[in-house]
Amino acid sequence: MRKLELHWQILIGMVFGLIFGYLMLQIGWGKQFVLDWIKPLGTIFVKLLKLIAIPLILASLIKGISDLKDISKFRNIGLKTIAIYIGTTVMAISIGLILVNIMKPGDGISSETITKLTNTYANDSGVTSKLEEASRQKDSGPLQFLEDMVPDNAFAALSDNSLMLQVIFFTIIFGISMLLIGEERAKPMKGFFDSLNDIVLKMVDLIMLTAPVAVFALLANVVVSSSDPDLLVALLKYAGVVVLGLALMIVFYCIIVSTYTKKNPFWFLKQMSPAQLLAFSTSSSAATLPVTMERVEEHIGVDKEVSSFVLPVGATINMDGTSLYQGVAAVFISQALGFDLSLGDQLTIVLTALLASIGSAAVPGAGMVMLVIVLEAIGFPADKLAIGLALIFAVDRPLDMCRTVVNVTGDATVSMIVAKSVGKLGKPNPKEWDDHLEEVN
Ligand code: ASP
Repeated sequence: MRKLELHWQILIGMVFGLIFGYLMLQIGWGKQFVLDWIKPLGTIFVKLLKLIAIPLILASLIKGISDLKDISKFRNIGLKTIAIYIGTTVMAISIGLILVNIMKPGDGISSETITKLTNTYANDSGVTSKLEEASRQKDSGPLQFLEDMVPDNAFAALSDNSLMLQVIFFTIIFGISMLLIGEERAKPMKGFFDSLNDIVLKMVDLIMLTAPVAVFALLANVVVSSSDPDLLVALLKYAGVVVLGLALMIVFYCIIVSTYTKKNPFWFLKQMSPAQLLAFSTSSSAATLPVTMERVEEHIGVDKEVSSFVLPVGATINMDGTSLYQGVAAVFISQALGFDLSLGDQLTIVLTALLASIGSAAVPGAGMVMLVIVLEAIGFPADKLAIGLALIFAVDRPLDMCRTVVNVTGDATVSMIVAKSVGKLGKPNPKEWDDHLEEVN
C-alpha cells in the first residue's frame, strides 16, 4: 500500500486533535486530562524541533558559505534578501491597512462587548505580561538591534535559541574566514560541517515521523485552552479581516512564484504544506525553521548557499503575517475605542509595523508585544493600552496560528526568488528517513 503523504497525515492529526479537544471540553475532567496527558506530547515535539535549530543553522550556513566560489556573491544574496524582505513586508502592511479601512471591523463593536472584553482580559496575566515585555523593549536606543546582533561569547550565543541573529553573525564570519584560509586548510572543517549538516537534516526526517501525533496534541490543547466562544463570535469581523488579508498574502506569494520563478504555485504550496501545517500548529516560525529548511532545500530545490542564509534570517526578521496583523489590529482598536487616525498615523503604522515585525521574536504571541509599540507610536493613550489589547486577546491565538503560516510561506517564497535571481534554483532531491536503513541493518 502506498504510504499516505506527510501533509495528509499531519492534516488528519490536526482534525482529530480539534475533535478530541472539543469532546474533552464536554466532559468535566476533560480539560485537565488534555493538559496533563496530551499537551506534553506536543511540547516535546516543539522542543525536539528547537533542539536542532542551532546546529542546523550552524552547519548549513557554514556549508553554504564554504561552497561559494566567490564571496561577493554572498554580499549580493544578502542585499537582495533584505531588500525583498522589506518589500514583501510593506506589501503585507498595506494590504492589511486597506482592508481594515474599507471594512471597518471596529465600528460595529458594541459598548457592552468592549466592557465585557475589558473586564475579562484587561487585568489578565496574558495582557499585562505583554505590556511589561513591550515597555522593556521600548527602552532601548535606535542602534540597540545592531548591538544585540553581535555576540561577545560564541558559545553563549550558540546555547540560546533566542539569539539566532547572533549565531548567524558568528557563523557568517566563521564561514568567510574558512574560505579565506584556502581550500586545502579548510578541508577538515568543511568535511565536519558537511557531515553535521546531513545528520541534522536526517534528524528532521526522524522527528517528522512523530508530527501527526504531535499536531493532534498541539491542537487538542489549543481547543481546551481557548476563550469563551461568545467572545470569539463578537470578534469575528476583526478576525475575518486579518484572515482575508493573510489569504491575499498567500495569493501574492503564488503570483510571484509563478511569474518570477516560473514554477507552478500549487506545486510550491504542496511542497511547503508540511512546514505550513506545523507553523499553524506550533505558532512559532522558529520551531518550524528546521522543517522549512528541509522542505525548501530538498523538496523545492533551493541551493543551500541561498536557503541557509535567507531562511534563518527570515525566521527572525521577516514576518509578513505578523506585520499585516499589527496594522489591522492597531486600526481596529482605534476604531473600536473611537480614537481617530490621520493619514500620517496610518503611515506611521506602516513604518513601525515594519520595524516591529523585524523586532518580533519568532515565538507564539510575540506579535502582540510589538503591537503595543505600534500603538504607542501613533499616540494611543497609555492608560487605554490594556483595554486595547483586551479587545483582541480572545482571538489572538487562532490569528497567531494563521499569521505564522504566512510568515513561514513568505520566507520560503523569498528564498526561491533570491535563488532564482542568482541561478541557484535547481531540481528537488527529497531524502527519506530510511534511505540507508538497509545498509545499517
Ligand atoms: N508567532 C509568530 C511567529 O512565530 C510571531 C507572532 O506573530 O506572534 O512567526
